[in-house]
This record gives sequence, C-alpha cells and structure tokens, in this order.
Amino acid sequence: MNGVELRNVTKAYAGLTVMEDINLEIADGDFLVLLGPSGCGKSTLLNMIAGLEPTTDGSIHINGRDVTSLEPDERDIAMVFQSYALYPTMSVRRNIGFGLKMRGMLRDEIDKRVAEVGDLLQITPLLDRKPSQLSGGQQQRVAIGRALVREPSVFLFDEPLSNLDAKLRADMRIELKRLHERLGRTIVYVTHDQIEAMTLATKVVVLDKGGIQQVDTPENVYRRPANRFVASFVGAPT
Ligand code: ADP
Ligand code: MG
Repeated sequence: MNGVELRNVTKAYAGLTVMEDINLEIADGDFLVLLGPSGCGKSTLLNMIAGLEPTTDGSIHINGRDVTSLEPDERDIAMVFQSYALYPTMSVRRNIGFGLKMRGMLRDEIDKRVAEVGDLLQITPLLDRKPSQLSGGQQQRVAIGRALVREPSVFLFDEPLSNLDAKLRADMRIELKRLHERLGRTIVYVTHDQIEAMTLATKVVVLDKGGIQQVDTPENVYRRPANRFVASFVGAPT
C-alpha cells in the first residue's frame, strides 16, 4: 500500500507510556491532520513517522516499506517544523539547496530545483537574503521550500503556522491547500487549531492523551463527533 501505515505503535519515554497501540492508515495523496490538545502526543507521532523518535513497539510503513529502523533521510519524507530551523548564516538559496548538496547532487541541478521551488513559493526575490532579513511568513515559506525541493513522497508538518499572526495564518492556509492540490503528495499535518484542521484536511485524526478518538472527514468529525471529547474539542469556540 502507498502512503503511511502505523501498526500497533506504542511509545514510552523513560518507561512512561504516552501512546498505546496506535493503528492508522494514511492513504496516498491524503492531507491528513492530526488534531488534539497540547501534550496529547501529536509531535511524538509525527516524529516517529519521521524517524526522529524511535518507536517503543510496533512498526511504521511508508509506501509499503517497513521503515521502523531506518534513519530519517532513508524514509522518503521531509519535515517542516514550527520553529522553521533555518541555518542563520546561509542565504535562502543555500538553505533550500543544502539537503540536495548533502546528497551529492550536482550544482546545476540544485540551482534548477531551487529556482523552481522559489518560483512556486514566490520567494525568488528573497533567494540571496539571510533568514534574519526575512519576516516570519517568509521564513516559513523558506522552510517549506527546503522540504519541497527534496521531492519526498510524504511531507510532515508540525504546527508550521503557529508562530504567524492571524492574517498570515489565514493566507498560508489557502496556500498550503493549493500546494497540496498541485503536488498531489501525502501530507501529515499536526495542529491544535480546529480551523486549520477543518479547512486543510481531507481526513482528520482527533487525538487525546495517547489515543485516537476519531478518524474521519472534517465534515463528519464536526457533524458526527464520535464522543464527548471530540464534540467539545472540535465544537468549542477558541
Ligand atoms: P503534542 O505535540 O501533542 O503537544 P508531545 O508529543 O510533544 O505532544 O508530547 C506528548 C507527551 O509526551 C507529553 O506528556 C510530553 O510531556 C511527553 N514527551 C514528549 N517528548 C518527550 C521527551 N523527549 N521526553 C519525555 N517526555 C516527552
Ligand atoms: Mg507538539
């Protein structure tokens, strides 16, 4: 099966279980949003898919391949963090191309791909600036560009918009949705923001304290919540 699959995944930190027996299938091309309150385990789940955190038990499969014991760069994924994590001394161009250089790609090919991504994200005029010379929204675009340029089959986003102001967040939501439609790639997107989940997702996974509460379309999660927790979390005004 293409896409991402978690089979009986359990996670404990220093003997304390935070995720218990998680089973989840993420279809190829889905925009899957992991939605839940702070501390429920969203980042832990995403980091296990990325290979940044080991699973305590169970297995993770990407495009039909068991990746449970593979390094992040062997998993055909790219991740975008809330903190952007750009290299401060490098230009935008080098920030975006760095991962390709590490893989041994030739200069001309890197330049070509960085130019394409710059075009797509409308950051071409910024390519020779340093991250410190960019606004928060522009830095976020560069972080997304760094993931896009690697052309993985799965993109992982951990609360990528939470450091942006409300107006920019709304704009970026629209852009992310367009990007997904254009690329047709699988996206796994973590947020605690119901509006983001409802507007972006093709499928929503509602999480609470280490467990999956509901997996459904945004509309069904909203109209037919599986339990009280989902009803109060999705329905509650912020
Ligand atoms: P979320 O992203 O939903 O806010 P996290 O995945 O960061 O939640 O955290 C889930 C739980 O695991 C929390 O109780 C948190 O304190 C705990 N946790 C996360 N990372 C670590 C860690 N590196 N060491 C110990 N406990 C952790
Ligand atoms: Mg988190």
